Amino acid sequence: MKNEAPFDLILLGGGHAHCAVLTDWIANGVPAQRAALVSPAPHLRYSGMVPGWIAGQYPADAGLVDVRALALQAGITFIEDRCIAIDPVANAVMTEASGVLRFANCSIDTGGVGKAAKLLGDDARLIDVRPIDGLVERLEAAGSPENVTVIGGGAGGVELAFALNNRPSDEPQAIALITGKAGLLPDFARGPREMVRRELEMQEIAVFESDAVLTDGTLQMGDDPQTSADDPLKSAEILVASLGSGAPDWPASGGLEVDENGFIAVDKFQRSISHSHIFAVGDVASRQDIHVPRSGVHAVHAGPLLAANLRLVLSGEEPRRSYRPRKFSLYILSTANEEAIAVYGPVATKAEWAADLKAWIDKRWLASYAKLTQDM
Ligand SMILES: Cc1cc2nc3c(=O)[nH]c(=O)nc-3n(C[C@H](O)[C@H](O)[C@H](O)COP(=O)(O)OP(=O)(O)OC[C@H]3O[C@@H](n4cnc5c(N)ncnc54)[C@H](O)[C@@H]3O)c2cc1C
Repeated sequence: MKNEAPFDLILLGGGHAHCAVLTDWIANGVPAQRAALVSPAPHLRYSGMVPGWIAGQYPADAGLVDVRALALQAGITFIEDRCIAIDPVANAVMTEASGVLRFANCSIDTGGVGKAAKLLGDDARLIDVRPIDGLVERLEAAGSPENVTVIGGGAGGVELAFALNNRPSDEPQAIALITGKAGLLPDFARGPREMVRRELEMQEIAVFESDAVLTDGTLQMGDDPQTSADDPLKSAEILVASLGSGAPDWPASGGLEVDENGFIAVDKFQRSISHSHIFAVGDVASRQDIHVPRSGVHAVHAGPLLAANLRLVLSGEEPRRSYRPRKFSLYILSTANEEAIAVYGPVATKAEWAADLKAWIDKRWLASYAKLTQDM
């Protein structure tokens, strides 16, 4: 593709926000003559349904958004490939298979990368949940181990611990959760955190609130002798690491301004603060004006505003729309036993209806995309 004319706009990554951009393009037309979506796979794996798959509530092929079909329905080029480098001055991205793709404008929604090996050390038992792409396959390849340790005390780690504890299996499971020094659900209020703690206790999931380090094949937790002597941890057959999103190397290497952790620094319009023809959104981006937590909810809600800004920029105007998260977002943590804990700021409740509501929201979100491409 080296000598082809540049794309007016390249979407890198078919993440949550870019799905909303494609939806806008299907409904209102593509605001560019030549546009492309670059994605390493034809589907986006929806992370919110992975715990449900582990717990046997969904088949492996549930929770996929067909981003290839969305791109084709919008009438743009779909390139099944992975970006490995960007040159924001020469306006080019380098991909694994296609080589160089040139662009006038670019929007990046490639999500977070894994950081387990970097933070914990190498171990054959380690399964990093990121990138979420391929997570189901990595877990499938691990078989059905009885002793599993989950590392990471955020919402993802907690949901995975509950799901692993409720896998359909004839054998008893021994699940442990190592939260890191910051403790269980450090971003949640005290009430919801204590409700989750009680549920973990009730499900007999052992919780250790210290840092984990792998040294010569041995899992150690800080220097607490009481916890490092614990049996289920020593005998863990797999270590599932859910440590939050890490930043890919290529944005910083290419010269895009990044924050202290390597995430692409963007302004309130999701526009790179160093290169105004490049936008970034979702977990790969770092808003410089306000703190936006890295979660799918925010990537989804930022999508329509990004779509509006891209439309303005492509018609020669300045971007005007800005995503501002509400004070609280609704989080529904599945406890994988037909119930879920619904959390809204300081308020939490555990109920069967919360699990039903989560399933309804997730299925409705997926169906909204399936509907757009049903005639294809
Ligand atoms: C187990 C688990 C459960 C979770 N549950 C929830 C939940 O219930 N609610 C919630 O709000 N958040 C949840 N999260 C967090 C959520 O998954 C992320 O915050 C969200 O996926 C981020 O969306 P994104 O659009 O930034 O990127 P992603 O959804 O990760 O999408 C990025 C896309 O870009 C593609 N891509 C990656 N690299 C490249 C590249 N170099 N070139 C081109 N394309 C590339 C990927 O293949 C992928 O399709 C969960 C996370 C985990 C691990």
